[in-house]
Amino acid sequence: MNPKLNIVANQFSQLARKSRNNVSSTKVNKEAVDNPPLEIFKLGSKTLRTEAKRISKVDNQIRNLAKEMLQSMYSAKGIGLAGPQVGISKELLVIDINFEDSAAEPLILINPEITAFGSTLNSYEEGCLSIPGVYLNVVRPSTIKLKFRDEMGRPRKMNADGLLARCIQHEVDHLKGVLFIDRVTSTEELKKELTKEGYKMKDVLPLD
Ligand SMILES: [Zn+2]
Repeated sequence: MNPKLNIVANQFSQLARKSRNNVSSTKVNKEAVDNPPLEIFKLGSKTLRTEAKRISKVDNQIRNLAKEMLQSMYSAKGIGLAGPQVGISKELLVIDINFEDSAAEPLILINPEITAFGSTLNSYEEGCLSIPGVYLNVVRPSTIKLKFRDEMGRPRKMNADGLLARCIQHEVDHLKGVLFIDRVTSTEELKKELTKEGYKMKDVLPLD
């Protein structure tokens, strides 16, 4: 996911600070690099529509991939990136809504599964590193419960709200081959925004 405005969710920042002492082999400098390790595929690429597969073993290869995804995400000024966006059909997400805070730990979510959605919905503008220049409102539940494995393969659970809940939902969609533009309810605005950036309406696969 790619934010138009830089929003810092304090709650998550506090949460991240608590876990700062955890040893992590995926420590990444948040500065942009000239040659990011991974290419981010754009709307129209098949990889974005391919369903990702579960990761059976969390090993150094997966941790290294997460690290490269983080470097590529920070370099592109994004707050979330999913495996399929870099041509890798694995259930791996990296997220950092506090990208401006060098001390805040990013989230690495392996085999993430949203186990519950809150009943309250909200509408908020989203963007995507695979659809640069396009920003549109999407309605989503404002809170979620999630289970996943961390970069050491440990099973974890978390609750999320605000920007973090939105970002996780956007990224989990990527693992199913779903893009945020598929969820935009206003066809008129969608068409206007996509054509302005040279994208095609045929690359949208509306959800029922
Ligand atoms: Zn995206």
